[in-house]
Amino acid sequence: MSTIPLRGLVIFPGVTVSLDLQRSKTVKTMNNALEKGDNVFFVTQRDYTIEEPQVEDLYDIGTVARVKQVLKLPQGITRVFIEGIARAELHEFLERDEEYTGLISVDEAEEMNFEDPKLSALFRMLNEQVEDVFPIMQKTSPDMVNQLLATNDSEVKLNQLIEFLLLPFEKAQVLLEAETITERLEQFLAELNNEFEFYKIREEIENEVRKNLDKHQKDHILREEMRVIQKKIDGDEDRKSEVEELKEKIEAAGMPEKVEATARKELKRYEKTSSSSPEHAVIRNYIGWLIDLPWNKESKVNINILKVKKSLDKDHFGLEKVKDAILDYLAVQKMKGSMKSPIICLVGPPGVGKTSLAKSIATSTGREFVRVSLGGVRDEAEIRGHRRTYVGAMPGRIIQGMKRAGTTNPVFLLDEIDKMSNDFRGDPSSAMLEVLDPEQNCTFSDHYIEETYDLSNVMFIATANNLGSIPGPLRDRMEVIQLSSYTEIEKLNIAKNHLLKKQIGEQGLTKEQITVKPDTLKRIVRNYTREAGVRSLERQIGKVCRKVTREILETEAEAVVVDKNKLVAYLGQPAYEYETSGKKDLIGVANGLAYTTVGGDTLQIEVALTPGKGKLQLTGKLGDVMKESAQTAMTYIKSNLKELNVEPKKLDEVDIHIHVPEGAVPKDGPSAGITIATALASALTERKVRKEIGMTGEITLRGRVLPIGGLKEKSISAHRAGLKVIICPENNKKDLEDVPETVRKDLEFIFVSEASDVLKKALI
Ligand code: ADP
Repeated sequence: MSTIPLRGLVIFPGVTVSLDLQRSKTVKTMNNALEKGDNVFFVTQRDYTIEEPQVEDLYDIGTVARVKQVLKLPQGITRVFIEGIARAELHEFLERDEEYTGLISVDEAEEMNFEDPKLSALFRMLNEQVEDVFPIMQKTSPDMVNQLLATNDSEVKLNQLIEFLLLPFEKAQVLLEAETITERLEQFLAELNNEFEFYKIREEIENEVRKNLDKHQKDHILREEMRVIQKKIDGDEDRKSEVEELKEKIEAAGMPEKVEATARKELKRYEKTSSSSPEHAVIRNYIGWLIDLPWNKESKVNINILKVKKSLDKDHFGLEKVKDAILDYLAVQKMKGSMKSPIICLVGPPGVGKTSLAKSIATSTGREFVRVSLGGVRDEAEIRGHRRTYVGAMPGRIIQGMKRAGTTNPVFLLDEIDKMSNDFRGDPSSAMLEVLDPEQNCTFSDHYIEETYDLSNVMFIATANNLGSIPGPLRDRMEVIQLSSYTEIEKLNIAKNHLLKKQIGEQGLTKEQITVKPDTLKRIVRNYTREAGVRSLERQIGKVCRKVTREILETEAEAVVVDKNKLVAYLGQPAYEYETSGKKDLIGVANGLAYTTVGGDTLQIEVALTPGKGKLQLTGKLGDVMKESAQTAMTYIKSNLKELNVEPKKLDEVDIHIHVPEGAVPKDGPSAGITIATALASALTERKVRKEIGMTGEITLRGRVLPIGGLKEKSISAHRAGLKVIICPENNKKDLEDVPETVRKDLEFIFVSEASDVLKKALI
C-alpha cells in the first residue's frame, strides 16, 4: 500500500485532518495513490528531522486513511484532506521509483462492549472532564467540543477528543498504540490531567509575570509622576531662591538709582514669566548684564611719574620720544585730576609695542587693562549693541569691554581704530565719537543696556597702523603719538634684553640652560624675519627656545648653545637674504623705496623693451596713483630723449613693459616716480643703474622732484637691504634728523630737486 511518512503528526481512525505534503517522494506517492483511487497508509517518523526515512525511522503502528481531497498549493505543496479508517501495523517499507510503499496488516476494528462498567465509567469521566477542562484550556472551539460531547460514546469520539487536545506527537503515538480502547481511554484521561496541571502551572507563572510586569510599570509611572511633581516643587523653589539671589546682587552692584529701579522692575517681570517662555531667558540675561557691569567699583589709581617711567623703561627698549609723550600726558592727567583731555592714539606699524606700552601704562598706574579690537567693525551696533528686541541681542563692544574690566576706570585699548569702516548699517565712527568725547561719554548709551553708562573715568588709548585712514573727526579728538619701524640695532637690543628673556621663561627654560650667541641673534633678525616691528622676531625666538627645551629633555644635556648651525636645524634655511638689492649693476632695473602701513620696504622696478609699436604696459598690481606716476615718468623721459641721446624713432619700434616684482602684493603711492624714470632711461639708453643706490621721490611732467613721506622708515629699510646711497627730494632734508643715527652714518644721502640730477647720479 502507498505509504506516507509523517512528521510531527499522528492520524487516528475516524478523524479527518488536513495535512501538507512537501517532500517530492511523499507527493509522488500521494499522486499515484490518488490516480489509482487507493487508500494510503500514514505512519509517523520517530524523528521528524529526517528527510528520507528508512523503516527503522518509522513507528510500527500507523493509520490507513481515505484521501478526501487534494489541493495543489504554490511552492510544490500538496494539501490533502484525509479521514483515518483503521489502525495498521507496518512490516516492510520500500522505496521504488521515488515512491514509498509499505507492507502492512490492518487491525480488526475492536467491538466495544458498553456493558463493561469500567468502559462506561471511563467514558463518563471523559465526558465530564472534557466538559470541565476544555473550555478553561481553550483548546478548541467550545461549540465543536459540545457538539462532540453530545454524540454517543465511541472510539471515534475518543479519537476526536485526542485530536482536539493537540498532544505532542510522541504522546499521541502512545495513545494510538494502546492495545484496547479502554487502555487508550485511561491513558488519555491521564494525559488530560497532565495537560490541565501543566496548563494551570503555566497560567500561574504567566499571571505572576504579568503581575510583576504591571507592578513594574505602575511603579515606573508613579515614580515618573513623582519626579515631575518634585521638579515642579524644586523649580518654584529654585526660582524663588534665584530671584532672592538676584535681588541681593542688584543691591550689591551699586547701580545708580535709576538703573537699580529698572533692574528691580525687570526682576519682578522675570518672576512672573514662565520658564518655558522665550522672554524668560532674555530678561534673565539682561538682569545679568546689569549686575555684572561695574557701576561703582574702581581701582585705586596712583600716578607716580617716576614709577611709570621706570616701568615703561623696564618693559621697552628705546622709544624715548614715545615714552616722553606718554609721561607728559600722564603728568597733565595727574595735575588736572580728571580724564578730560584728548585720548592717546599710538600710531605705527604692527609689532612695535603699541599694545604692550598700553599694558605697561595700566599696570604702572594701577588700572585694569582691557583690549577691544575694532578691526573690521563696520556696524554701529557692534559699538553700541543691539536693541533687546533682537533675537540674541548683546551689548556692544564698549559695554562688553567694561564688563570684562570689572572696574569703572580701566585702561581701555581700542585696537586698530583705523580699520573701522562704514557701510549701510551705520557709521561706527560716529558711535566712537561719543565714546571718545570727554564731554559726552559720561552718558554713553548702549542700545541693549538702555540705561546710560558713565565712561568718563576710563582711560582710552587707541592704536592705528595708519593715521591717514582714521576718520577726520575722530583723529581730531586724539593726541597722536607716532611709533616707527625698528632699526636692526634696535631689534637686536630688544631681542637680547626683552624677547629672549621673556621667551626663555615662557618655554619653560632657565637662563642657565640656553645661550644664544650675539651673532646668532643677529642672524635671526636679518635672515629669518623681515618686518617693521618685532612680532615675528619674538615668534622665531620662541621657536628656538621650544626646540632647546625639547633637546634638553631628550638628550638630558645641562645647557644648549645656539649657534649658526643649530639655527638651521631649528628654524630651517634662512627665509631672507640680507642683500635684497641686486648683486650686479643692471640695465633697466632701479631700486625704489616704499613706505607702507607695515613700515618701509625696498622694491625693484624693472623696465624691458621688446620690438613693437610704442605700447606701454604696466604690471605688478599697481594702484592708480602708481600707474599715473609711471605715465608721468614715461612722458618726462619722452620729452627729454635728446638729453639722453636716444633717437626719437626708437620709441616707435619698441613696446615698453614696466614691472614691479612680487606681483601679489598691491603697491601704490606716488613716490616711485623718479625710480621709474631712472629704470626707463636706463633701458632706453642701455646704461646700467648703480646697484647700491636706492631712490624715492615724486616726479612732475617737467622733471621736478617733489617731497615724499616716511623718509625715516624708508632709510631704515634701505639700510636693512644693504644699500649704500639714497637719493631723495631736496625738500625732505629736514626729515634727516628723524633717521636713527646708526642708519644715518652708514648711508650717503643725496638730495635732488630735478630728475636730471637723479639720472646723472644713478646711471653709469
Ligand atoms: P603692536 O601692538 O604695536 O602691534 P605689540 O605691543 O603687540 O605690538 O608688540 C609685540 C611684541 O613685541 C610684544 O611682546 C612686545 O613686548 C614686544 N616689543 C615691541 N616693542 C618693544 C620694545 N621697544 N621693547 C621691548 N619689547 C618690545
